[in-house]
Amino acid sequence: MANSTPSMPVECRLHEHDDRHLRQAIALADRARARGNRPFGALIVGADGSVLAQASNANGESGDCTAHAELSAIRAASPHHTREQLAGATLYSSAEPCVMCAGAIFWSAIGRVVYGIDAVRLRAFRGERLDQKDAELSCRDVFAASSHPIECIGPALIEEASASHRGAWKS
Ligand SMILES: [Zn+2]
Repeated sequence: MANSTPSMPVECRLHEHDDRHLRQAIALADRARARGNRPFGALIVGADGSVLAQASNANGESGDCTAHAELSAIRAASPHHTREQLAGATLYSSAEPCVMCAGAIFWSAIGRVVYGIDAVRLRAFRGERLDQKDAELSCRDVFAASSHPIECIGPALIEEASASHRGAWKS
């Protein structure tokens, strides 16, 4: 059986405004952790640069296993913005979106995603073996199946995005 380590996703370089918004998502991840949740944060920024919504993971506080940052941010933004507005928006996430959140991004019509730490590096923090492929579907697989284009940029700011996870998955 092949037992090779999968290659690590290569870090993307971002424009300055993307850097700034992604750092804000990472700060929201740290805020989630400080409140006893898994360290994830997300914000949605409109085409004009205004913040449409932001959220931190709330699994620990709410007991809701779907209280992911991206999903909560989309739920906050979606009722107040048209699909056209959301199509021009970017969702910044401190980590690569899971398949549930990728589905929500699809339904929201948000046209662009920028994320920090990737799922491969995240698995290492979660204590899973890097050399074992699990059943996770990449958000890019979901976006590739979309009827409208969804641009996906990441991983980015890997070091900063990783810092939120150090020592956060011990229990
Ligand atoms: Zn998710």
